[in-house]
Amino acid sequence: MESENTIIGFKSRILDIWNENVFTHESSIKWFDDLKNILFEFFDIKEAKYYIYDAETFLQLSWNHSFAKKLNAIKWVEIEPLFYDKDIIDAHKLQLKDCAKNDVALLLRDKELHPLGLIIMESSEKWIEFSKTTQLDIFLTTITKLVKTIRKSVYLTQQESQFRNLFNVTKMFNSTLDIGQILEGTLNSIENAFPKFKSILILSNDQDRKTSAPYKLFDYTTERNTTVEAYVSGEITTELAQDLGVRLLNIPIVGKQGIYGILQMSTPLDYLFSIRQKEFAVLLARAAGNALENAKLYIQSHRLVSDLQLINETSHKLNMNLSLDEMVVFLRNQLMKFFHPEHVGFVFIENDEYKISPASTDVFHTMEGHLYIQYVTNHFKSEKDSLFIADFNRLIESKYEYRSLVAIPLKEQNNITGFSIILHKEPYFFSFDNYKLMQSLIQHSSLAISNSTLRYKLQKMVDRDHLTNLFARNYLDRFVEDAMESDDQGVFVLIDIDNFKRINDTHGHQIGDEILKQIARVIQGMIKNKGVSARWGGEELALYLSHMSLEQGVEMSRQLLAAIPQKTNPSVTVSIGISHWSRSDNLSFNNLFHNADTVLYEAKNNGKNQLCIYKASHSS
Ligand code: GH3
Ligand code: MG
Ligand code: MG
Repeated sequence: MESENTIIGFKSRILDIWNENVFTHESSIKWFDDLKNILFEFFDIKEAKYYIYDAETFLQLSWNHSFAKKLNAIKWVEIEPLFYDKDIIDAHKLQLKDCAKNDVALLLRDKELHPLGLIIMESSEKWIEFSKTTQLDIFLTTITKLVKTIRKSVYLTQQESQFRNLFNVTKMFNSTLDIGQILEGTLNSIENAFPKFKSILILSNDQDRKTSAPYKLFDYTTERNTTVEAYVSGEITTELAQDLGVRLLNIPIVGKQGIYGILQMSTPLDYLFSIRQKEFAVLLARAAGNALENAKLYIQSHRLVSDLQLINETSHKLNMNLSLDEMVVFLRNQLMKFFHPEHVGFVFIENDEYKISPASTDVFHTMEGHLYIQYVTNHFKSEKDSLFIADFNRLIESKYEYRSLVAIPLKEQNNITGFSIILHKEPYFFSFDNYKLMQSLIQHSSLAISNSTLRYKLQKMVDRDHLTNLFARNYLDRFVEDAMESDDQGVFVLIDIDNFKRINDTHGHQIGDEILKQIARVIQGMIKNKGVSARWGGEELALYLSHMSLEQGVEMSRQLLAAIPQKTNPSVTVSIGISHWSRSDNLSFNNLFHNADTVLYEAKNNGKNQLCIYKASHSS
């Protein structure tokens, strides 16, 4: 009978707590403090600790709801076997370090028997007596109801601050398309929610993201398995990283179109996240994912327009019949402008040899630059595909200064005729989008380049004499005319083979041709880069020796005169006419040629196999 009175009194006092606290938004701690007083009033119980159940654990509720307290959480699996279907046990069985021998533990559960909370309290004589009566059930039901309300209130308070945090950060996300701001906002927000833990962003490589915000690049090859798993699956993962001495939580940053990275939190090994906390982190990461996606799409749409402009402008310009050099310079400037590399190079492959275009930037004219060119050349020997290297040092042992490299082949009917290459010191500098754009730009330009190369080769063919590979007369004419405009002096030499008709008649035309070639070789070998030699007509050859004085020209002619009979088989001799000009003479090219021709005629008339020099007195 006494226990019945007790329970009625108890219930009414509990109702008071309810009435007093329900609309006041008091802290949940206040509820428990009131409860503590009631337990003392009715059962003489002086000490009690309260735990709420969350994520498989019981978390102690206290004024200082600190991180250390959370580490004292009791895991459900540790105490489940003790309770079976009972809701009260002697607390010392729990073996908690601050449980006294006679403490009692009350397990509070909902109708489905899921745990709601745990109360560990001192025992007392009054309590022992009461606990033996049938009123115990009512006591438990009443307490359970209260704890349920408290729990809800705790969650609501927690949730409210989380949602306020989320609301503020999302509001900011919606007001900006600045990726740096979004990333910083995300980090600030997670730091506000979990000030004790370290959080980092691990993001996939993306050229759009030129920002000072701190983040690490996601790297499949070195990332931890759980991080990769979260990145690939889009699901949150956790890991006890014993090697780092932390528990890792990987929260994927997900947008509608893809996963952009991971928000990774490190906590002490024995820390446990509540469901709400995880929920918060997931919502935050999702908001960040959507914001990043929007910003990206915005940037992409702008870029698409400028990409089209680039290709359009480039093809337009390339169709204007530029020379190869002009074309390469133009392309170099375009690549510089759009991809901001530190170096741009163009390499043309001809007969297995590579020639570096002079339009290439400095590094390609150094030994260091050759390393990259060699690497790319080797690649194109076996493969026809473009090359995209995000970090050179990961591929090759030795340290390369330029770690980002893109190389696109120049193709002529599926043959690789060269390539274009861009470099940057920073790894991961060029994005995949850059790579694709450069590829389409170079492919669009390939045809124009190969047309222009072809034109250049054709031009060269026209300028050369087929049989002797000496220049054609036309070319020499132009060359001498130019030289007479810009130089101070020079020597013109005409060479005619002696009695060549007889050679042809005796040995046949073919042998005659061979002799012409032999003589051409002697001439080329002797003048090297001192001048230009041409086939002037049938069996007449001509030389122009740039900047030479008459004496030097005569000396060289003498050497030719002596060498040719030795280097020809059957041996032939030649006759030579030499004329010289200097700036003060005021000669025309026609005069110069005519003078040489005049003295050549003299040489023939004087018995051949000799040279004659045109002297100024001739003209008077
Ligand atoms: P001269 O000492 O007076 O120069 O006598 P020549 O026989 O060399 O001079 P001529 O002008 O009478 O004959 C030139 C000959 O050169 C005629 C032609 O058969 C020969 N000739 C010209 N072009 C070629 C060529 O491309 N190949 C060969 N095999 N012979 C050529
Ligand atoms: Mg002749
Ligand atoms: Mg002749």
